[in-house]
Amino acid sequence: MATIFSKIAAGDIPSYKVAENDRFYAFLDINPLVKGHTLVIPKHEVDYLFDLEDEEFAGLHLFAKSVASAIEKVIPCKRIGVAVMGLEVPHAHIHLIPINKESDMII
Ligand code: 5GP
Repeated sequence: MATIFSKIAAGDIPSYKVAENDRFYAFLDINPLVKGHTLVIPKHEVDYLFDLEDEEFAGLHLFAKSVASAIEKVIPCKRIGVAVMGLEVPHAHIHLIPINKESDMII
């Protein structure tokens, strides 16, 4: 059964898209920790981030780098924090969280 993130990437469930290419999708978290909190996913459905093949793992991170750069242009912040949790949704994803102070990242 498709994960909720697969349905989001396919457009079957609405999301606020931040960026997309043929393999990866970035969208705003529905329950953001801060303004601009973004999730970056592979369209290919894999539960655990570290189970991705090396090439896809590297591609996801390069995509996340470009997304972080785009976020920095529109959300004033000191830097983009990166978090990997994956306990709620069984579809590999990276959290990109614009932060200004250490407490922004306490999650
Ligand atoms: P994690 O699996 O990393 O613990 O958390 C999953 C994240 O996905 C949470 O921050 C949660 O708010 C977000 N999330 C869960 N369901 C949806 C959804 O349907 N749409 C969006 N945009 N975000 C979601």
